[in-house]
Amino acid sequence: MYVVMVAAECAPVAKVGGLADVVYGLSRELELRGHAVEIVLPKYDCLREEHVWELAPTFEDLWVPWDGGAIRCTVWFGFVHGRKCYFIEPHSRQAYFDRGTYYGFWDDPERFAFFSKAALEFLLKAGKHPDVIHTHDWQTGLVPVMLYEIYSAAGLSHPRVCHTIHNFRHQGIAGHDLLRQTGLGRPEYYTAPDRMGDGDDHHAINLMRGAIVYSNFVTTVSPHHAWEVRHTDQGFGLGPVLHRHQAKFGGVLNGLDYEMWNPATDPLIAGRYDAASFELKAANTEALRRRMLLRAGPRPLVAYVGRLDAQKGLHLIKHALHYALHHEAQFVLLGSGSEHGINEDFWHLKRRFNDDPDCHLEIGYDEELAHLIYAAADLLVMPSLYEPCGLSQMIALRYGTVPVVRSVGGLRDTVFDWDHSERPRVERNGFVFEHADAAGLDSALSRALGLWRNEPALFRELALQGMACDYSWNHPGQHYLAIYEFIRDK
Ligand code: ADP
Repeated sequence: MYVVMVAAECAPVAKVGGLADVVYGLSRELELRGHAVEIVLPKYDCLREEHVWELAPTFEDLWVPWDGGAIRCTVWFGFVHGRKCYFIEPHSRQAYFDRGTYYGFWDDPERFAFFSKAALEFLLKAGKHPDVIHTHDWQTGLVPVMLYEIYSAAGLSHPRVCHTIHNFRHQGIAGHDLLRQTGLGRPEYYTAPDRMGDGDDHHAINLMRGAIVYSNFVTTVSPHHAWEVRHTDQGFGLGPVLHRHQAKFGGVLNGLDYEMWNPATDPLIAGRYDAASFELKAANTEALRRRMLLRAGPRPLVAYVGRLDAQKGLHLIKHALHYALHHEAQFVLLGSGSEHGINEDFWHLKRRFNDDPDCHLEIGYDEELAHLIYAAADLLVMPSLYEPCGLSQMIALRYGTVPVVRSVGGLRDTVFDWDHSERPRVERNGFVFEHADAAGLDSALSRALGLWRNEPALFRELALQGMACDYSWNHPGQHYLAIYEFIRDK
């Protein structure tokens, strides 16, 4: 199978969030299984070029039709930790990808519509005929639209498109102008609600809706989230169109990079361990306590690692802190917020608990510390309001840290309650609560702390069962291949 990924991000050269990890991780898994994968990305000026090997121009004069004229692009090629990547660099006064950062500009829909068009133009001119083009999120939503409406007649008649939605909240809403610029034209045709028309504004087009309508298959990043976006408000207005296209829509759980996240080899933790040497995990707890000036002693360590965003259930994270401290446990937080008010709030909390021997908050992004916390903690809380997939709970399981999660999105697909799950006892791996309120969290945390204190052997068994789970790219890789084969042969 020959697959081309077209995406706005790929870890670690151009990463903002989980999308980048999926593009890299899935590509790697497919290649390990013997398939040919190429990744097409914008050549941002802020690309982390130290992660690209042998970067050089490979296609000097790619003229991309745009807005009645054409923009000349240079296409670069390089290896990103073994993955084959093409980077498209437009030469135009708009400087689409020379903005010092990835997103956040008024013309984002135009920037990424141009990138989508350039990617197709490149495949056409370079004579590439992949079996499947895999696109991601709204940024590349116009790829299936333009493939069907323009490029299949121009010679790209072969490829099928699989589109993955990582985040329904950002859908790429644009005005009519974009139709003229891309050469699609015909606003009255495209703004129909069964094509790209945006529900709220009849003059606007919705790029994510276009991807859903025009792709051969659409996925989101966990099976339960695939249900939520159709049946609750988590589809942010796209529920009805997903219903209409549900025969080609499904959820595939993201995988975790099992090389990067491996307690047996992790160079960033204080003591390496695996299931057979589980007691060595305690060296990490000691190291973290020393580093954070927490007192030693037989207290369970509860942690939160993640963005400080309303999505994550901030009031419940704070509640977990208070609950832990009132129940003779310790609490550690590593969090980074992008909103000033939220950061202020947590800085305030940090100052309040500065001298507490059982509590430490670290505000900011710290990859290395994250590894140590996953290895050190006994419990990881994740009381998210919504969570399309979630990686932190998978990392916790891999490190024998028991997750305490709300039953939402990918958390529901990966964590199975010790007391109440319908799964066989050997498959249970954490604690789960339903409602996003203090009572729900309390019930799960009290059971978790109770097991730690009263039944240490059972708690250890639960942690080991978590370590035995396989949330690597192995299963998702197989799942995506089955989807590719299905749409290729259809
Ligand atoms: P989301 O994609 O919504 O941020 P996920 O759980 O899917 O949440 O992925 C979060 C990833 O980012 C995890 O690998 C987590 O360890 C990491 N992470 C989040 N915040 C921080 C931080 N402040 N410092 C270090 N790593 C972080």
